[in-house]
Amino acid sequence: MKKCPLDAVVFVLVVTLVAPPAFAQSAPQTDDPIRVLVSRLDLERYKATIKGLTQFGDRRQGTQRNRAAVDWIEAQLKSYGCTNTERLTYMFQPAPPAVVPSPPVPAPPAANPPTSVGGGRPRGNRTRTGVNNDPNAQPDPKLRELNAEATVPGPRDEVYCTKIGATRPDEMYIIGAHMDGIGWGEAANDDGSGTALVMELARVFSAPDVQTERSIRFILWNNEESGLNGSRAYVAQRRDSRGQDQPAGSGKYPEPKWLGMIQHDMMLFDHGMPRPDGTMSPEQRPEADVNIEFQSNSRLAPESQALAWVFYRANEKYATDYPASVGSHMTNTDSNPFMDDVAAISLRENERGTQIGSGWDPQWHQPTDVFATYTDKDFRLGLNAAQTTLGAIAGLTGATLK
Ligand SMILES: [Zn+2]
Repeated sequence: MKKCPLDAVVFVLVVTLVAPPAFAQSAPQTDDPIRVLVSRLDLERYKATIKGLTQFGDRRQGTQRNRAAVDWIEAQLKSYGCTNTERLTYMFQPAPPAVVPSPPVPAPPAANPPTSVGGGRPRGNRTRTGVNNDPNAQPDPKLRELNAEATVPGPRDEVYCTKIGATRPDEMYIIGAHMDGIGWGEAANDDGSGTALVMELARVFSAPDVQTERSIRFILWNNEESGLNGSRAYVAQRRDSRGQDQPAGSGKYPEPKWLGMIQHDMMLFDHGMPRPDGTMSPEQRPEADVNIEFQSNSRLAPESQALAWVFYRANEKYATDYPASVGSHMTNTDSNPFMDDVAAISLRENERGTQIGSGWDPQWHQPTDVFATYTDKDFRLGLNAAQTTLGAIAGLTGATLK
């Protein structure tokens, strides 16, 4: 087996031996501070955060309901103790539709074997996928009304807060999810589930008794559904100022060096492959898993793969119900703009290309992506992804309890 970047994990294990006993009465009997932190995640809290996000409907970018959701997320982050919230601003000005239709481009010859977006090979039954743009497909009149305002081009912002590392404030991991959605539902799964995961981790890491050696940035991307515009803007604005202290000599790092970027996108629903007649199992399948993907066709593929296996091991150690699996075709998500500059992975309910792309999530961008669609077995898959990322990042950043 190849050498993996386990130095940080080993460091934490050593620190564990001298850590004080768990402080809270409800905390598990353990000397592992990471296990104590993971125990501070809770299914009902995770569900409540998703539910809170759904009050803003589908949170489509470029609308008042989207801006209200950004404000709400910022207020929540502050209430968790992640008080240094900031916003990245950018312009979203999509090209107008062409006046003169361009000549038809001949379709490329079909790949043999067939290839999904991201590079994987699709197998088995497929169903149609697409984006719902029909308001009347939403049967709930209140939700139809809530989602009625159309998107307009213009300025956008997205919110983040940062846990500052005690000894390495100049280095950080970025933990992300996109807060915007589409499809005339509540964007409960895509991506309220990932947004709530990031917010819950911000809550746990911001507790006053938690210290990390390295920094962690919790960021809720906007404009994912329009083409990753929020994360692209972040990379464009920040990649050249990484690791600089400003003002020079101040010891303050507005943009610490990037150590890894971890995206969370659709965390709830793994009911398996569509049946031959196009219907789905109504229940979460017992063998549901958290899909950790890196992109083999990226400059830092070896580093990203190594990061993926750190998460896989954290899942084995800390996730209570569902396992993880690692794949090499990360695509169509906010970690992609980062993947040539820093180790980058995504966590998801299914593989994005071969499975979501083949119709494994019938709520995807549909009016049915509402809170009421999901059961505790679904929400628990998202909680297990939260346990996975919390365990991995606590190890990588050297988290301890004071
Ligand atoms: Zn998404």
